[in-house]
Amino acid sequence: MLEELKKPPGRRILVCPTCGSHDVTYYMGLKMGYQYQCKSCNYVGALVLEEDI
Ligand SMILES: [Zn+2]
Repeated sequence: MLEELKKPPGRRILVCPTCGSHDVTYYMGLKMGYQYQCKSCNYVGALVLEEDI
């Protein structure tokens, strides 16, 4: 419970839905707006998982 209060709000990490890697970065799409790219498996897409830190 108290640990929850220590966490800064909005801290999240992106998780690749394909391989589960945390090495996911923003990737600029053309018309689709923002997408994400996984550096581990080269997945690119708008769908990624998010985990609270
Ligand atoms: Zn991946």
